[in-house]
Amino acid sequence: MSHRSWAEPWKIKVVEPIRMTSREERIAAIEEAGYNSFLLKSDDVYIDLLTDSGTSAMSDFQWAGMMIGDEAYAGSKSFYNLVNAVHDVYGYEELVPTHQGRGAEHILSQILIKDGDYVPGNMYFTTTRFHQEHAGGKFVDVIIDEAHDTASLHPFKGNIDLDKLQSLIDEVGAEKIPYISVETNVNMAGGQPLSMANLKATYELCHQHGILVMLDATRAVENAWFIKQREAGYEDKSIAAIMREICSYSDGATVSSKKDNLVNIGGFLALRDPELAKQARALLVAFEGLHTYGGMSGRDMEALARGIREMVGTDDHVRARVGQVEYLGDKLIKGGVPIIRPVGGHGVFLDAKAIMPHLPHDQFPAQALTAAIYVESGVRGMERGIVSAGRNKATGDHNYPKLELVRLTVPRRVYTQAHMDVTAESVIDVVENAEAVGGLRFTYEPESLRFFQARFEPVS
Ligand SMILES: *Cc1c(COP(=O)(O)O)cnc(C)c1O
Repeated sequence: MSHRSWAEPWKIKVVEPIRMTSREERIAAIEEAGYNSFLLKSDDVYIDLLTDSGTSAMSDFQWAGMMIGDEAYAGSKSFYNLVNAVHDVYGYEELVPTHQGRGAEHILSQILIKDGDYVPGNMYFTTTRFHQEHAGGKFVDVIIDEAHDTASLHPFKGNIDLDKLQSLIDEVGAEKIPYISVETNVNMAGGQPLSMANLKATYELCHQHGILVMLDATRAVENAWFIKQREAGYEDKSIAAIMREICSYSDGATVSSKKDNLVNIGGFLALRDPELAKQARALLVAFEGLHTYGGMSGRDMEALARGIREMVGTDDHVRARVGQVEYLGDKLIKGGVPIIRPVGGHGVFLDAKAIMPHLPHDQFPAQALTAAIYVESGVRGMERGIVSAGRNKATGDHNYPKLELVRLTVPRRVYTQAHMDVTAESVIDVVENAEAVGGLRFTYEPESLRFFQARFEPVS
């Protein structure tokens, strides 16, 4: 027999029951939520694919760590366990703990960016760009063009375009660029990796010019997995070794521990330069907490230290994590559903424009499709299209983004492949009858970040 199935590298010790609802209950729930999946109550959701942020399942070993977390205000044992874990897995000497990723981005931006500086990056992330601009910097996108092309099958759509970076340096001067922010497994591009060769070349170019390289290493483990799969010379290296090499081409990193690190809250800034770390800690005590807990409790830090070691302890963990996302993606492709390819590290993105050509863009195809999938099966996804893109401040009209997507994000170690089967089958059913899904219009539109709290009703 040639084909062998794989299965999750864990067994289930504690279960959290989820409620199966009737179609009538779901129709009532989505109406009450104004056709916005953010406004659904999680109790009314069967399979929750809204986000993979803070939704991971911890291991028994992590839960055991919660009991022995050291809650000392200063010098907690759990803090030193975290310092050692970050040092062993990422290789950084200096650890600045924060309440989550954006806390680390805030501190880093404040210590490095001056008014009028430029901060290049491989596509923006919402909170990262906010903090760079809040500190007086200007974000410049230097990702390769393929990242914006849904038809491109480029294996490393997260790569930095070195020509774009060189042009920026030539144009504004290296002294105006305190650092480049290099995101691993680029979230807004759909969980797309960058290659080791590209990262190394970026690091060399930046160091010639005295520009620091700061990773957003939030999804570095998923990126390491793609390097192992797709880049020559890495097929026999462990994920732990690839992780260390990724971080070796950087001067520090911000991390949201709500993703790769397998905990529900937490984050950190890690640095090599003790002088920079000193400046970061001076701000930390004002914005986050004392330098030995940041925004976390002792038990949070203990669970995090263990999660960091677990995510690279064997390659089986990330193989199953990314494998589950690919499994869902493959089922949808086989079922004829247009999705963004290659399938990324954390979710599957449905192409709502291609699925619902009968709807004009300003009737919110992805929002309507998200609601229809929920009604079909209780699966909750998220709109990433025109509603998320907001309005143009100058004209007052909608921004019309190129991509009109429904995101199905897979939490780590939470669902089995059977949940993915149910998800795929129900999405395929909705897509096969997509012409029956009508458009939506606003009944309430918040002024900023409207996608979180907007309410809608059917057009007809
Ligand atoms: C989630 C995320 C962040 C922000 O982290 P929070 O913990 O939500 O503050 C930053 N960068 C990336 C790539 C992320 O996925």
